[in-house]
Amino acid sequence: MSAQLLDGRALAKQLREGLKKDFAALRGYAGLLPTLAVLRVGDDDASAGYARAIQKSCDSVGVEFHAVELPYAVQQEEVEETLADLNSSPSIHGIMILEPIPAHIALAALIDRINPAKDVDGVHPINAGRLAADRQPYFVPATPAGGIRLLEAAGVDFKGREAVVVGRSDIVGKPMALLLLHRHCTVTLAHSRTVDLPAVCRRADILCLAVGRPELVRADWVKPGAVVVDFGTTYTEAGLKGDCDQAGVAEQASLLTPVPGGTGPMTNVMLMENLLRAAERAASS
Ligand code: NAP
Repeated sequence: MSAQLLDGRALAKQLREGLKKDFAALRGYAGLLPTLAVLRVGDDDASAGYARAIQKSCDSVGVEFHAVELPYAVQQEEVEETLADLNSSPSIHGIMILEPIPAHIALAALIDRINPAKDVDGVHPINAGRLAADRQPYFVPATPAGGIRLLEAAGVDFKGREAVVVGRSDIVGKPMALLLLHRHCTVTLAHSRTVDLPAVCRRADILCLAVGRPELVRADWVKPGAVVVDFGTTYTEAGLKGDCDQAGVAEQASLLTPVPGGTGPMTNVMLMENLLRAAERAASS
């Protein structure tokens, strides 16, 4: 068997075309310039790279990117004041805080202070709670939203199927498990303390990997014909690697998201979709 590879680049391109039109229409009828504020503290290379990628996404769909950069030595109170200004500004529709931030800044306290209506990253407890309770409207974190969208576009049937998600972060694994649960999968959420992870993975009709350990999952961990979603993105000397042995798993799975070119390109386009929703709600309120 050789798995069909789910082309995240192609789907992201198609979605971007639609978003470009929707943002232009919103600007036309509401006279509003959709704007995403991206808050960074310090000058970490990874967050700088992520900010550039987000700016490119904003440019590609015709929305404003508003960079807010605070120095490393800034104090908690000042970051909270900056956030309060973004929360109340009518010209800002979405807010993201990029990680990592310096250790002396309490990230959880900042997240709790984001206006939930502008929380396009889906990290505020109200949005996380609404997702857990399956109560609209809420913002779903962009990475798992993109993974689900890829599966839906491929016509994957979720109902009653065994899903295993490896990794339980608030931003990828946990929301992915909830999205699968709401689609009526029987879900197992595995993590670093899971006993006999290979056996747990082998149960999965739908196996989702959000670990950050390159090639952790081998072909013999995968049930023949399973659908495999690989969120892993680790830069190694041999290039960008996912969480599974892509070549081996492709021989075992029926559908597989490639790394690179699978879930990665979907993330920023899903962020833009959340921003569209936030700006539409602002326009109608
Ligand atoms: P994270 O916060 O570090 O979480 C990693 C999870 O993996 C944790 O729940 C951890 O378990 C679990 N884990 C670690 N080692 C394990 C092992 N040996 N066996 C089983 N579980 C193990 O990472 P994240 O932010 O969710 O990111 C996960 C991966 O997705 C990374 O490669 C990241 O780069 C990638 N990512 C991709 C995108 C995209 O656009 N495709 C976006 C965001 C992240 P414990 O909870 O027990 O510690």
